Amino acid sequence: MAFKDQGNIKPFSNRIWLATPTMHGSELSYVTDAIQTNWVSTVGRNINDLEACCAKLIGRKYAVGLSCGTAALHLAIKLCGEKLYGQPKVGYGALEGKRVFCTDMTFDATVNPIAYEGGEAVFIDTDAETWNMDPEALEKAFELYPEVKLVVIANLYGFTGDLPRIVEICHKHGALVVEDAAESLGATYNGLQTGMFGDISIISFNGNKIVTGSSGGLLLTDSMDDANKVRKWSTQSREDAAWYQHEELGYNYRISNIVAGVALGNMEHLFEHIEQKKAVFERYEEGFKGLPIRMMPIVDGCVPNYWLSCAIIDREAMCRQVRGERDALYIPEEAKTCPTEILEVLARYNAEGRPIWKPMHMQPIYRSHPFVTKLGSGRAMSNAYIAENNALDVGMDIFERGLCLPSDNKMTEEQQKLVIELIRRCFE
Ligand SMILES: *Cc1c(COP(=O)(O)O)cnc(C)c1O
Repeated sequence: MAFKDQGNIKPFSNRIWLATPTMHGSELSYVTDAIQTNWVSTVGRNINDLEACCAKLIGRKYAVGLSCGTAALHLAIKLCGEKLYGQPKVGYGALEGKRVFCTDMTFDATVNPIAYEGGEAVFIDTDAETWNMDPEALEKAFELYPEVKLVVIANLYGFTGDLPRIVEICHKHGALVVEDAAESLGATYNGLQTGMFGDISIISFNGNKIVTGSSGGLLLTDSMDDANKVRKWSTQSREDAAWYQHEELGYNYRISNIVAGVALGNMEHLFEHIEQKKAVFERYEEGFKGLPIRMMPIVDGCVPNYWLSCAIIDREAMCRQVRGERDALYIPEEAKTCPTEILEVLARYNAEGRPIWKPMHMQPIYRSHPFVTKLGSGRAMSNAYIAENNALDVGMDIFERGLCLPSDNKMTEEQQKLVIELIRRCFE
C-alpha cells in the first residue's frame, strides 16, 4: 500500500491553505486616510506612494498602479507590440498575426494578453535545472522563428532561472522582454530585484501573492513616455482637452486609492513574509530528508521569495498516475506515490496543496500553438525520446511529478510537521 491511515493523525480543524493574504493593521491606516480625505477613486496619495515605494525597492524609474497583474501584463504586451509594429487600427490588436515567445509552465494570465492583442504565443520549454524558461530551448526557438521580436518570461513561484542569460539571448536577437514578476516580488538574481530584468516588467497584488492589496498590480519601466502612455491607456485614453477627446483605445485598468492603501500597508511586511515563507520551505526540505522527493531548485545567483514551496517526486518513486482533462486516477503501490495521492491525502486531512501549473502547451485552449524544446519542435518528438524520458518534454514531466505544498505563512511548525508526516506516509 501507499498511504496508510494509522489513525493517530486527526484532520486539521482549521484548514491549512496553500497561500492566503496576511493583514497586519498597517493597511488600515492607509485605507482610513483615503476615506477620511475622500480620495477613494483612481487618484490619491496611496497610489503615488505605492508606485514610488515599489519603483524604489525594485530599482526601476517608473511604476504605474493598475487594477491587477493581468491588466499590467496586457498593457506591457500592448506597449511592446506598438513599439515593434506601430499603432493598430481600432478593432485590431497590436500583435495581429505575430508570434511571441512565452514561458510554458506558468499561470495562464502570463499568456492570455498575447491573445488579447491578436498575437500567437509560441511556448518555450522549461529547464529541468531551474523550472523556468530553458535558455537552450529559447535559442532553438529563435532558429525556428527568427522573425519573433517579443518574449514574455515568468519567474515561477518566486524562483528564477538565469535571468541575465535569457535577457541577453532575447536582446541578441533584437527582441523586447516582458518580465512577469507577479509571483516573485522581493526575489533577487545577482543582487538585482526581479522586475529589473524585463524591458517592461509587472508585479501583482492578487490575494494569494506574497504581498496583497486585495487585488491590484504594477507595471514597471525606465521610460517616462512608457509610464505616461500606460497611465493614459489605463484611464480610458483621455487626451488633454476640455471634453472627452480620444485618439487611442482606452481601458479602465487604473488601481483604486483604497486598494493601493491595502497594498502599501502590506508592502511594509514584504520581508517578514519572505522570511516566513523561507522557513516553510526549509522545514519541508529538512522534513523530506531520506525520502525520494526534492524541493524545487534554487539556482546560483537567485535569492527566491519562496512564495510557494514546491517539490518533485523522484521518477523511481512514482506510482502509476493517469490524468484526463478534468480528473486523475492512480494505482497505489508500495513505497511509491504520486502528486494525485499526496494531494488527495492532504485534502482528506483538510490541507490544501495544488498540482504544478499545467504547462500552456498542454492546455486545450493553446494546444494548437507551437511549442519548442531544446531539441526543436516539441510537437514532433520521437517515440524513442518519449520512452527514454517518460515524457514529451520537461514541463510535462514536472507537471506529472511535481506539486505545490501548503505554503501559508500562518501555518504553524506543529501543523507543518503533520503535513510532512502525512506526505512521508504516502511513501510507505
Ligand atoms: C497572479 C499571476 C498573474 C496575474 O495577476 P493578477 O493580479 O491576479 O491579475 C500573472 N502572472 C502570474 C505568473 C501570476 O502568478
